[in-house]
Amino acid sequence: RSKQNGKNRYGFYQAEQELATSRTVTITNHLHNALLEDSFKLLFQPIIHERTRQVIAAEALIRFGDPQAQATGPTEFIPLAEEIGLIDQVGLWVFKNTCLQQRKWADAGLPLRCSVNVSARQLRNPRMADDFINAIERTGVNPAMMAIEITENAVINDEGSARAALQKLSDYGLSIAIDDFGTGYASLSGLHKIPVDTLKIDQSFVHGCDSDNDSSSIIAAIIMMARGLNLKVIAEGVETKGQLAFLSSFGCDEIQGYLIARPLPAEQMADFIAMHSAPRTTETS
Ligand code: C2E
Ligand code: MG
Ligand code: MG
Ligand code: MG
Repeated sequence: RSKQNGKNRYGFYQAEQELATSRTVTITNHLHNALLEDSFKLLFQPIIHERTRQVIAAEALIRFGDPQAQATGPTEFIPLAEEIGLIDQVGLWVFKNTCLQQRKWADAGLPLRCSVNVSARQLRNPRMADDFINAIERTGVNPAMMAIEITENAVINDEGSARAALQKLSDYGLSIAIDDFGTGYASLSGLHKIPVDTLKIDQSFVHGCDSDNDSSSIIAAIIMMARGLNLKVIAEGVETKGQLAFLSSFGCDEIQGYLIARPLPAEQMADFIAMHSAPRTTETS
């Protein structure tokens, strides 16, 4: 799905081709500018503990800060950044800035675990793990409060460098989550060879779990398997109370999705948490 977006330029009609090419050029310029001007932004989406309903973590999600570029989202510009060789710089920007934010929250008495998405290409950079560890050391963040999210496909067909990077980060104390779990092609035996501690159930299953049998069976199976392998399970894309009830009944550990909150600017997190944990006197939705 999302990976296809950047490849539409192989379209049949020349006009279509030219339009897509000019779009690629435009986004390429936005990427270079954002790096030069340090104008990327991060949003943070709260993640709650299923039983306590407290916000315990937040996922960092990158955006263009420049108003001219804001309509373009990461599903489009991250694959392009990978293609044109900018992903290492962009990815390190995200990691460093997330560390800084984690430290600010921790100092303010909000010890949120922060997770950062890492793309397949980035994971294959042999310097990545050391760059991340340096960022942690320079910001003084507790490594146990940082997590990275990778997709299954980032670690299959890997000759070992991705696995080595994950091992180094895991040994240093970071959590490793498999994002969009269930949509890739990793075998269960392959999963066993990397130091994973968390599975994030893909949104496509979550969206169907209160309405179709296949999705609910898949989720039930993922949660049971995760329990057997001693992995934590996070459901992402939770949008309805029915989905939340289903996930709770199967003992899903953590919940993320629009039902809880949309991705927020960091400055809004403290207020969100204060409001979210206040006892509700009236039902608002
Ligand atoms: P992801 O890591 O699977 O992130 C979840 C995406 O789903 C986010 O979209 C989030 O805003 C959206 N989402 C969260 N809750 C809901 C919900 O209840 N319903 C629906 N429909 N959507 C929800 P976003 O921010 O556009 O990011 C899209 C993808 O771009 C991410 O998917 C991730 O793969 C990639 N991405 C985002 N930021 C970064 C980054 O800093 N580095 C890298 N390498 N990739 C990133
Ligand atoms: Mg993610
Ligand atoms: Mg995901
Ligand atoms: Mg994704």
